Amino acid sequence: MLYVFNKIIVKKITFFSVLYYYRITFLYILNRIANNSKIHIIAVINIFLKRGSMKIKLIGVRGSLPTPSGNKEYRHKIRNILLRAVEAGLNDVTQINNFIDELPENLKFNYGGNTTCVTVTSKGGNLYILDCGSGLRGLGDELLSTECGKGKGYLKIFISHVHWDHIQGLPFFKPMYISGNILEFYSPYETLEENLKAQMDSPFFPAPFQGTASTKKYKLLKAGESIQLEDDLFVDCHPLNHPGGCVAYRFREGKKIFIFATDAEFTGETLERAENQSHFFLNSDILILDSQYTLDEHFGKFDWGHTSYTIAVNCAIRWGVKHLILTHHDPGNDDKKLRNIHSDAIQHRNDMKLKIPMIHIAREGMTFSL
Ligand SMILES: [Zn+2]
Ligand SMILES: [Zn+2]
Repeated sequence: MLYVFNKIIVKKITFFSVLYYYRITFLYILNRIANNSKIHIIAVINIFLKRGSMKIKLIGVRGSLPTPSGNKEYRHKIRNILLRAVEAGLNDVTQINNFIDELPENLKFNYGGNTTCVTVTSKGGNLYILDCGSGLRGLGDELLSTECGKGKGYLKIFISHVHWDHIQGLPFFKPMYISGNILEFYSPYETLEENLKAQMDSPFFPAPFQGTASTKKYKLLKAGESIQLEDDLFVDCHPLNHPGGCVAYRFREGKKIFIFATDAEFTGETLERAENQSHFFLNSDILILDSQYTLDEHFGKFDWGHTSYTIAVNCAIRWGVKHLILTHHDPGNDDKKLRNIHSDAIQHRNDMKLKIPMIHIAREGMTFSL
């Protein structure tokens, strides 16, 4: 009897949820048809199709060291923006937003100085954190308005490796200091706990890691291993060529594939040789890939563990990637140079008479839906 009753309740809840969702979409479309706005209808259909998709957000994109933009760069940007405003004859405040929208990316935005941190939100709405670079501080502040602020958070954190730029945000991650929160770390490193403790040991930091109030758990992965996180969400771990070791994580949800592969050295030669790499990287929808150097810079920095953007594009083409995101920006690169790297990378692909992959350059706050 109870079983039948539960079944009816579940059916009713499902029915009303679906009705509620479609009601909103239906009314929205009707409203836009009434306004005869084709663009808005397409936007609504897109929202409908993207509903429940895996989402990726870039929180920190800088390599090696947090890199705030300095006053010299700031003044240079203001000067360039004002020059363009004068040339455009801007004299009306209502034109300002349009004017800003049409600026080149390096003037419209800051690419960002925080070191590596990325989030993945699954179809089911669960959050996964990839690496704990300095970007993690801001993410922690945002998470305080969720269950994490009440000491009821359960955060799953994947660590690519423990070079400082990938763990240095952790001491400033407020949810870690709140009792009741659980931080579950995934990595292939048996010494991870020890390493996380070490960066907060006296005299380097005033609060020891082991004294922070949250509970810590550790899941040890094997390189090459796959684990299931949710009904339809799997993660694979894959070793990368980097001093001291590093791993890539591949998230598979339904037919969608997202790969996070920061801190990896690929050369023309290793790309040719490494067929097993090709297997792991094949046919991803989004690949975040190390591209710290120009090709010339890389010639002077073999074995430093990073890839040039030219080779990153070659890799993405070889592996059939749909969207390539260039990341781990060198601390020496200002926004103007990053913009040039982006356009050169696109040109390199165009020179091969190709339109795929789409090439993006990582910028803090960028989001992608799969
Ligand atoms: Zn790094
Ligand atoms: Zn590294």
